[in-house]
Amino acid sequence: MIYTIEMLTARITAGEKQYDTEKILAAYEFAENAHRGQTRTSGEPYISHPVAVAYILLEMCMDTDTLCAALLHDVVEDTSVTLDTLRKKFGDDVALLVDGVTKIGQVPLNTKEEQHAENIRKILMAMSKDIRVIIIKLADRLHNMRTLACRPPEKQRKTSLETMSFYAPIAHRLGMNDVKEEMEDVALYYLDPYGYKEVENALAARKDKGEAFIETIKKRIGERISDIQPPPIIEGRVKSIYSIYKKVYVKGKNLEEIYDIYAVRVIVHSIVECYNVLGIVHDMFRPIPYRFKDYISTPKPNRYQSLHTTVIGREGIPFEVQIRTLEMHNTAQYGVAAHWKYKAGLGGKVAGEKRFDWIRQILDQQQEADDVELIAEAVKVDLAPDDVYVFTPKGDVVTLPLGSTVIDFAYAIHTQVGNRMTGAKVGGRMAIFDYQLKTGDIVEVMTTNSPNYGPNRHWLDIAKTNEAKGKIRAWFKRECRAENITRGKTAFDAEMKRNSIYPDEEFLKQIAKRQHFDNVDDFYAAIGYGGVMLSKIVQKTKEDYLKLQKPQTPADTVQDVEAAVSESIARKQSSGVIVDGIDSCAVHFAKCCNPLPGDDIIGFVTRGFGVSVHKLDCKNVTEQQSNASNSERWISVKWAADAKAKASYEAALDIVAQDRTALIADISTAIAANRIPIHEINAHNLKNGNANVTVTLEISGLEQLKNIIVKLRKIDGVITVERTGKV
Ligand code: MN
Repeated sequence: MIYTIEMLTARITAGEKQYDTEKILAAYEFAENAHRGQTRTSGEPYISHPVAVAYILLEMCMDTDTLCAALLHDVVEDTSVTLDTLRKKFGDDVALLVDGVTKIGQVPLNTKEEQHAENIRKILMAMSKDIRVIIIKLADRLHNMRTLACRPPEKQRKTSLETMSFYAPIAHRLGMNDVKEEMEDVALYYLDPYGYKEVENALAARKDKGEAFIETIKKRIGERISDIQPPPIIEGRVKSIYSIYKKVYVKGKNLEEIYDIYAVRVIVHSIVECYNVLGIVHDMFRPIPYRFKDYISTPKPNRYQSLHTTVIGREGIPFEVQIRTLEMHNTAQYGVAAHWKYKAGLGGKVAGEKRFDWIRQILDQQQEADDVELIAEAVKVDLAPDDVYVFTPKGDVVTLPLGSTVIDFAYAIHTQVGNRMTGAKVGGRMAIFDYQLKTGDIVEVMTTNSPNYGPNRHWLDIAKTNEAKGKIRAWFKRECRAENITRGKTAFDAEMKRNSIYPDEEFLKQIAKRQHFDNVDDFYAAIGYGGVMLSKIVQKTKEDYLKLQKPQTPADTVQDVEAAVSESIARKQSSGVIVDGIDSCAVHFAKCCNPLPGDDIIGFVTRGFGVSVHKLDCKNVTEQQSNASNSERWISVKWAADAKAKASYEAALDIVAQDRTALIADISTAIAANRIPIHEINAHNLKNGNANVTVTLEISGLEQLKNIIVKLRKIDGVITVERTGKV
């Protein structure tokens, strides 16, 4: 049957419920236009499908926006129409519904073990922020099942399996019994055609007898309750094929053992009448013991309410009688969807009732109920709130803590997927690395096989899970030893310098050993990949270092210094330093720290060599000043105002760079270009492939030194440039 818009509007006009027909027609026009030219596998124009879905929902008495969304449910997915356009034309609600249906439709459904299927069902429901989304999706699937005959066999099987595993159970949970039974029967037809036919044939063989039997029972009950006003509705029903199939094939019963193949339904107008009718039925027929169920006082978790009893008549055939009110009947057929039946159609508010509020209502009413556990089970739609549930493109569910990113996802799949990730798509679109995943997202990780590829250090700041962070660190530990050593050494040296620690080789080995490393390189590497936190070891290192510094005799030290600096005295015509306010004093600059104009300085009165000038923070100063015996030999000195113009000073620089040809040439060219005389330049290779270059320059002042350091740092491959005390 092909559904048309005329059928839809005719049905709206015939019904009691008020609809915004103009809006529905506008939605139809829009969808018809967007799908124009598209056809279904059957050859029908595509628009017949959304119209049919809307028709199913109209039969359930769903509201205007649901019908509009049903008409538009495939336009975002299948045409160039955007959600924004829908929002502008049809409002937020319709756009939200269409978006929800589209997203649910993209969830890859694969049928593995039952627990997996149950998780996916929960996710599908959790993704439907508005319960109408899942109702539209069920109507959509129902129509696709009805028209499955046109599809190729493998598609029929796959769709039927999905329906059996996901959509029929969801319909059941929502109490939408009609939808559930029809879905199951059609799915069974494609999944086990022989079993289906067998049940169908067995029923057909009993058909005439069965129908005649039901008619007799209906008539007899009708006569006995004819005084009830308004008159009850009495209908007969045959159990669904799939329910019989389950009893026959799964529980191994034969058809005669199934008591409720035939049932008579009595629909009355009040609960009191329900119990009255039950009394009358039990008076007319012999009830079978233990077959009476009162689902009125104790509704099923999906809100189903009825009285059930199985009785035997004169014919000796057992049959079931179901007694319920009209409202219970609607709920039994439409489940949660029945809710809309009683709501005003036009302008009627359904807000506040959205999502699973109705289940909570039952829960509130049913505090006393025996099957609280069953109800709680039905409400267990809310997944753990601190987790997000996302999918691989194949439909596997990955559970991650809230706030997780695509990096965490990749590492959760496999370490190699994480390490080789070049990017990720979420819902088919490229996502940034710090995108925070949401429940229902489908994440596809793109990887490379390039041998030199690996994670970025920056990822450590983005990743949320310890698992991902651990794996990233492990990669750096393994793959980047040389880089880690350099990085670690640089960081370590800087930290030591900041703390005025000048470790020698022996002391370094000691620190490394204390951190359980066999050698200093391993120790540096660990700092490089983040396995050792400098902040955690610096205090202890400082303490050890201070203990190690044996007090030296002042004379020795001073003489050492004096000897070291003696050469440089002659070179300097004027020191540019004022000692105690006098400019004519014999002054020289200590070679241990090479002070420059602008540095904070202090003087030391030597024996016979005048005043030796140190930087205030020179380690010899800090060490010697604590020695009380020669404290009076330290005197305050300051730079003359014109110090810069008068003199030049030695400064030593320590450069670490990636070793390459012409490195030295580039460094000396840069220095020469700034007209700075070079006294000395030395280079040697480091173990890790880098080169260490030391240069001693004649500098006119601190400003010039800073300038040249900046220029040197810009040279290709240069990693660090530091000023050193030692030449
Ligand atoms: Mn569809």
